[in-house]
Amino acid sequence: MVDARGTQDPWLLTPGPLTTSMTVKQSMLHDWGSRDAGFIAVNTRMRERLVAVIAGEGQFTTVPMQGSGSFAVEAMIGTFVGPKDKLLILVNGAYGKRMAKICTVAKRQHATLEWAEDMPVDPALVKLALARDPAITHVAVVHCETTSGILNPLAEVAEVVAASGRRLLVDAMSAFGAIGLDSGKVVFDAVAASSNKCIEGVPGLGFVLCRIDALQKTEGNAHALVLDLFDQWQVIEKTGQYRFTPPIHCIVAFDQAMSEHAAEGGVPGRGGRYRNNCRILIEGMRALGFETLLPDHLQAPIIVTFHMPVDPNFKFQDFYDRLRARNFVIYPGKLTVADSFRIGCIGRLGQTEMKAFLSAVADVMKEMNVTSGASARKAAE
Ligand SMILES: *Cc1c(COP(=O)(O)O)cnc(C)c1O
Repeated sequence: MVDARGTQDPWLLTPGPLTTSMTVKQSMLHDWGSRDAGFIAVNTRMRERLVAVIAGEGQFTTVPMQGSGSFAVEAMIGTFVGPKDKLLILVNGAYGKRMAKICTVAKRQHATLEWAEDMPVDPALVKLALARDPAITHVAVVHCETTSGILNPLAEVAEVVAASGRRLLVDAMSAFGAIGLDSGKVVFDAVAASSNKCIEGVPGLGFVLCRIDALQKTEGNAHALVLDLFDQWQVIEKTGQYRFTPPIHCIVAFDQAMSEHAAEGGVPGRGGRYRNNCRILIEGMRALGFETLLPDHLQAPIIVTFHMPVDPNFKFQDFYDRLRARNFVIYPGKLTVADSFRIGCIGRLGQTEMKAFLSAVADVMKEMNVTSGASARKAAE
């Protein structure tokens, strides 16, 4: 958005919050009461549209949860995994680890299966772990692990979990709306996501799409009043109202973002733009010598991890600041396996912005006197 002084907002090449459209921002320029019939209608429509994204009509319901995405994940775990249940968490990055921490805090029995951050979770090992521990009732997996940008084999994991009679919970935060998830083909009880990732709304609302017959059995499970999805669902269904103040502006903006998502062609349209952004980014960065952490077949079109260049003139903070001065915000790495940084390809960005970003990177490298983005790995070959 360009303000009255002609200043352009930065382009957010991050895992979220993201660049949003002008129309999404403008939709918030009003006041609404939480009991306002207009707002209740918007909220109802938003809940229905989200169910349609996973083709879950009749089987699933959207339970919105105030807060960031992690609030929705914590609500999902606390509500679906009861005090006597046990959750197996598949971990190949920070968001899997966070689910384990949620279990510790919420005092839920859990176990983890771990892989390196540049490896997808392996359904065959999940199958073995489930056979070995009959106490496990639920499995949790991250669809796109935003830590590295890796795509996990969700459908294959879901098959193994269903075949062993366990229930699946999905953190699809950074994939929802861009990478297909069809509830008619992939079996799960709940999937959590948020307003400010691939749907391109503003931050403030998480949501969990819940299988209705599974949600009906969760009464009394929750470890926290405000994170009780069962109670939130009951009250919203009965009264149209939230139990506690809803982030109204965020919900109205989210509804506008859902309209724009549909106008772009839904999941295939949105995912197509992101895949194009991702391809332009990777090709352009490789042309400058940079190396991706992941091979292309494991890369989700969401966020790309690059190895830190070995050139002694390359200082990440300097690189970051110079890109920021050109209105591009990138993201530090979060990996333990490699020194790295990340560049997102999601949000209201297209090929024009991706190409402008690449020429900014080339300019910044010249200024810093860095001749190649090659990492120590490449240099050692
Ligand atoms: C962004 C994200 C979350 C939630 O993060 P918040 O900062 O709480 O919004 C959870 N899981 C994944 C995979 C994510 O990408």
